[in-house]
Amino acid sequence: MTPKNILNADLHCHSVVSDGTLTPEALAERAKANGVELWALTDHDEIGGQHRAAAAAKAQGMHYLTGTEVSVTFAGQTVHIVGLGFDADNPDMQQGLRNTRGGREQRAMEMSDSLAKVGIKGAYEGALKFVGNPELISRTHFARFLVETGVCRETPEVFRKYLTEGKPGYVPHRWANLRDAVTWITQAQGIAVIAHPGRYKFTPNEEYALFTEFKAHGGRGVEVVTGSHTPQEYIKYAETAKEFGLAASRGSDFHSPDESHTDLGTLPFLPGELTPVWELLADRIQ
Ligand code: AMP
Ligand code: MN
Ligand code: MN
Ligand code: MN
Repeated sequence: MTPKNILNADLHCHSVVSDGTLTPEALAERAKANGVELWALTDHDEIGGQHRAAAAAKAQGMHYLTGTEVSVTFAGQTVHIVGLGFDADNPDMQQGLRNTRGGREQRAMEMSDSLAKVGIKGAYEGALKFVGNPELISRTHFARFLVETGVCRETPEVFRKYLTEGKPGYVPHRWANLRDAVTWITQAQGIAVIAHPGRYKFTPNEEYALFTEFKAHGGRGVEVVTGSHTPQEYIKYAETAKEFGLAASRGSDFHSPDESHTDLGTLPFLPGELTPVWELLADRIQ
C-alpha cells in the first residue's frame, strides 16, 4: 500500500438536507471524532448544504471536498452518481439538480396513495414529519414513518416489504440521464464517480455498458470501498476500476446513528494499487 491511499477519507454521507438525520455540523463533528481527515457531504440531488458543510469541516480542522449524489435512470434502473470537488455555486449544476428533485413531491403522493390501498393511511403527511428539506422527500422518510407507526421494525424491512419494485408503495420514477449528470458535475470542475456499483441488479452486459458510457461521458471514478459493499465487492470493483482506468473512492454512505451499520470514517483503506479520487482533486480540496 502506498502512503497516498492511507488517508481516512469519507466521501459519501447524508444530512437532513436530504435523507440523513444529522445536520451538516453534527456530521462534521462525528466525522472528526471518528478520525476522518478528508470529508464530503453528498446529499441526494441537492447541494444546498455545501457551504454549511465546508464551514463545519473547517471549524473541525478537517479537509473538505464538495459533494452530491445524483439520481440517474440507466437501463431501467436507478443508478447513483456521486459528484466531488465541483463548484457549488455553478448555476447549470444547480438547475440540473433542481430539475432532478422536481418530480419527488408528485411521486411521494403516488406512493402514499399506493400504501393507502394496502391499508396504510396518511403516509404522505407521516413521511413529511421526517423531512428536513421540502424539495427532498424520499423513500427513506416513508420508511421512518412506517417504523414509527409499528408497521415494520426497521427501515431495511420497510424496503423489503413496501418500497421496492413489485411491492405496494413502490412508484417507478424517471430520474436524470447519465450523460447530463456527469456533464453537470464535470462542467462545474468536479469529478463524477459511480456510487456503490455492487448494489445494482444489472446483468454483466448492462454493467459493462454503464461503465463504458460513464467513461465516454467523462466520468472519472468509482466507489470501491463503501458501506454498501462486501469485502468481496471491494476486490471485484478494485479490478473494475483498473479495467476501466477509473480512480477509486471511499465512503460510508452514513445516514443516521440509529439506522446505518457503517459509521463515518470506519471503513478499510483503499487498496494500494488504485489511484484515489482525491489525487485527481488536489486543487479542489478546501
Ligand atoms: P429515493 O431517492 O427516494 O428513491 O430513496 C433512496 C434512498 O432509500 C437511498 O438513498 C437509501 O437511503 C434508502 N434505501 C434504498 N434501499 C434501501 C434498503 N434496502 N434499506 C435501507 N434503505 C434503503
Ligand atoms: Mn439515502
Ligand atoms: Mn446511493
Ligand atoms: Mn448515499
